[in-house]
Amino acid sequence: MARPFNFSAGPATIAPEVLTLAASEMLDWHGSGMGVMEMSHRGKEFISIYEQAQADLRELLAIPKNFHILFMQGGGLAENAIVPLNLSRSGTVDFVLTGSWSQKSLKEARKYCNVNIAASSEADGHTTLPAPAAWQLSADASYVHICSNETIHGVEFHELPDLQALGSKAPLVVDFSSQVASRPVDWSRVGLAFGGAQKNIGPAGLTLVVVREDLLGHALPACPSAFDYRIVAENQSMFNTPPTFAIYMAGLIFQWLKQQGGVAAMEARNIAKARLLYDAIDSSQFYVNRVAKNCRSRMNVPFFLRDESRNEAFLAGAREHGLLQLKGHKSVGGMRASLYNAMPLEGVQALVAYMQEFEKKS
Ligand SMILES: *Cc1c(COP(=O)(O)O)cnc(C)c1O
Repeated sequence: MARPFNFSAGPATIAPEVLTLAASEMLDWHGSGMGVMEMSHRGKEFISIYEQAQADLRELLAIPKNFHILFMQGGGLAENAIVPLNLSRSGTVDFVLTGSWSQKSLKEARKYCNVNIAASSEADGHTTLPAPAAWQLSADASYVHICSNETIHGVEFHELPDLQALGSKAPLVVDFSSQVASRPVDWSRVGLAFGGAQKNIGPAGLTLVVVREDLLGHALPACPSAFDYRIVAENQSMFNTPPTFAIYMAGLIFQWLKQQGGVAAMEARNIAKARLLYDAIDSSQFYVNRVAKNCRSRMNVPFFLRDESRNEAFLAGAREHGLLQLKGHKSVGGMRASLYNAMPLEGVQALVAYMQEFEKKS
């Protein structure tokens, strides 16, 4: 029987080819007589897995040489503390508040430094993005934080801000947890980007940090050694035992992405998938998405039934049709379909067909 389509926001669907390959290697990785979970992280087998994953990610995202790729732990939420612990030298940081995730990040950063909210879309319920030209950036900010895709509100930056052009010398910090690998990144505008792996690049437990060389070595004295970017970089992400199996899985997904044609090819598919779903929502009187069209997320599509009393029936019918985990986040309600790289176009077609069928029946 065909697998259902899983629209979870994270941990999220993984390509079946990748899961099948991992299963086939579970007991014996490449004739080593060991499964990946059983290997020393310092042995030649695991080192080869780690180096391949690093090289493949660098190629996929076209990460320049002057950026380090760090495989860390603690997820996006831990980075909300680890970033200010490493980068808030001046004592002031700028935040652009665009939804739940940037809100969480700034709340955590306040433990370590002064947070200036340079712009906010709170007044319109986070359905728009504040235009960069209007951001009130501080003169002395150590960095400017944005969340490039708000997983809960379904709002996405389709272009990263050019801070230099806005008169700021601060590096841009990007939480790209739910956007990473869905499209190319303009690294010339980025100082540091971080993301949990469980949205688009593998299982939970691995946190990706891509950080520009000059931002290492400025950690506050209170920063734990295991979270000091300089120490992590100097130890090739093995200052402590890294999440070996999660790195291996991410590596398989990087290989899969390369076979799919890389990140530019994924972007084209992601555009097509998102368009199909938004068009279906917009052309119906039954469903609605309230996010402004120029900043709608390709990855996470929140939508509502105009008659919310039909929510449970919609979800139950979806499950029967093999369409899983469509319930919206508890803070916004309604539905949410996450369309990460591993969600095929067929999954979105099946969802749209079901939505139309449900509307007709109602
Ligand atoms: C999921 C998510 C996080 C949280 O990641 P954890 O791994 O649960 O800590 C942070 N930021 C964004 C944008 C997310 O989507």
